[in-house]
Amino acid sequence: MTSVGSVTRQIAAMEISNKKPGTSTGASGSSLRQPLMKQPSQTNVTKLLTKFAAPNPFPNSTNKPTNPSSLRNPVSSKPGHATQPSIDIGNYDGGLEIENEKRGERVYGEAAEELALDSSTSRRYPTREWSLHDFDMGRPLGKGKFGRVYMVRTKAEPKYIVALKTLYKSEIVQSKVEKQIRREIEIQQNLRHPNILRLYGYFHDEKRIFLMLEFAAKGELYKQLSKLHRFSERRSSRYIDQMADALIYLHSKHVIHRDIKPENLLLGINGELKIGDFGWSVHAPGNRRMTLCGTLDYLPPEMVEGKEHNEKVDYWALGVLTYEFVCGFPPFEDRDSVNNTYRRIARVDLKFQDKDVRLSEEVKDLITRLLRYDPQKRLPLTEVQKHPWIVKYRQKRDSAQ
Ligand code: ATP
Ligand code: MG
Repeated sequence: MTSVGSVTRQIAAMEISNKKPGTSTGASGSSLRQPLMKQPSQTNVTKLLTKFAAPNPFPNSTNKPTNPSSLRNPVSSKPGHATQPSIDIGNYDGGLEIENEKRGERVYGEAAEELALDSSTSRRYPTREWSLHDFDMGRPLGKGKFGRVYMVRTKAEPKYIVALKTLYKSEIVQSKVEKQIRREIEIQQNLRHPNILRLYGYFHDEKRIFLMLEFAAKGELYKQLSKLHRFSERRSSRYIDQMADALIYLHSKHVIHRDIKPENLLLGINGELKIGDFGWSVHAPGNRRMTLCGTLDYLPPEMVEGKEHNEKVDYWALGVLTYEFVCGFPPFEDRDSVNNTYRRIARVDLKFQDKDVRLSEEVKDLITRLLRYDPQKRLPLTEVQKHPWIVKYRQKRDSAQ
């Protein structure tokens, strides 16, 4: 019996070695420098890809399929004829059916059209057609705002493991977030980076939308942070290195995340960080938006003050995240008064309280360089990756290989 861990580890290594040559060095390749495991040979990689990787509809290309229609005719599965060791996906609790009785309501009209989301008809990255019948259901992974998330496996060979996230259409409509959800899905489906959760495909039925997400085996980062109260500088440095890498990639695609915080981060099997939520992301083709959004503690001064903002809001949030990782709480938090948090942000009232934990001068330096009032003065992400606090621990990781 192959454990989920070993397979996901192999897939993780495969995704890394599957990157184009040359991407493993240079300023934007830090996450690829991680000593994850002995890298499998290219033949093994191809085998593993066919066996276990989540559905890549176009194995030889990241662009359009040569024969899109073939993707719409899923290979039929032969029960009991699995060619690879089965992975334990845990027990299904029947939650989807129970929930569907209670929560599922049909939506009609324009909203129904807006939410008829299906990746098989996506213009940019069409996948094969999927439906709930294509999966063996496994253990519950968690509950989201609009429905449950399950570990599932495709019935057809090769048996992919994914996290299936349900969203109830009527609740999306009630919360008036149809457009936001569409945008989140469109953005996430176009992204390919080892520290960004992949969205492999999506489909819908009368009442629900289903997202096929990359399975993050080590769950939520926030849970770990709550358990440990704070992270060591070594561990924080690794996460921030990975975050900087993912953000460089996002910004190169003109996507601003705008909602970076521990609650939106998941962990892969090797403990690598995965950005999971794209609810507040915007495509930013040069237009600077003035909508107020995001979590208070992570908002930069320009958003608190209702000014225009750009991708440098994510630089600020990276500074807040670094602080929260090493201290255990965000820097401008005021539990008694929201207004006070706003004021502290606008004044950049940054204090390092060294009474509980002794912080290195290097981490304080990095945080101070990111938490600058003037967005233009914030340390660029490529410089973050060259900062002594990042380089120091990366070198130790590399030499431990
Ligand atoms: P919330 O607003 O509460 O964060 P949400 O709608 O954003 O809800 P998610 O956070 O995506 O929902 O999912 C709910 C929970 O399911 C997560 O907290 C996590 O524990 C689990 N989960 C979601 N996606 C995955 C995944 N890809 N791999 C593993 N676990 C996952
Ligand atoms: Mg979430």
